Amino acid sequence: MTPAEKLIDWTARWTLLGNHLLCTECMAAQPARDADQPFAHGQCRLAPAGIQYPWSDLWKTLNELPVPLND
Ligand SMILES: [Zn+2]
Repeated sequence: MTPAEKLIDWTARWTLLGNHLLCTECMAAQPARDADQPFAHGQCRLAPAGIQYPWSDLWKTLNELPVPLND
């Protein structure tokens, strides 16, 4: 999966609202300050996927994109 495909996959499951990250299925939210904690879903089909750290997943994916450091 390319970095762009990973980003598309991430945005299908998660969204950012202010400094919170939300699950698009159950709308459970996690503030950025709790990014090092496992995400707590509500009643959600994504919950059985195991322990999830979506902030970390986003950070890793963004760092894989070919963004120039200097313009
Ligand atoms: Zn959820």
